[in-house]
Amino acid sequence: MLATTAKALEKEATASLRTCLACYAKKAKQELCRLAVTSEGFLVWDKLYQMDGRGAYACQDSACIQRLLRNTKKLHKAFRRQNLTVGEDLHAIFRSGE
Ligand SMILES: [Zn+2]
Repeated sequence: MLATTAKALEKEATASLRTCLACYAKKAKQELCRLAVTSEGFLVWDKLYQMDGRGAYACQDSACIQRLLRNTKKLHKAFRRQNLTVGEDLHAIFRSGE
């Protein structure tokens, strides 16, 4: 019983590491910004890490987020869809670097 629990915990610790799609740094989920797509096709910042569907992660750093948003091919691949619109909150970050 205990062994199973320890194994499950270990698995969880490894699973909580995510990769930034812009710079490929591996970090704990909470240190990254999760991007998700709404049913309407808007790419948004999933601040609570709980939206359904696929997610893409980027460092909580406007440089990484901008780099990722600029790479539409990578986004299309990550979310397996072509029709993505950058939502307002992300758009604000995107524009702040211009
Ligand atoms: Zn990054």
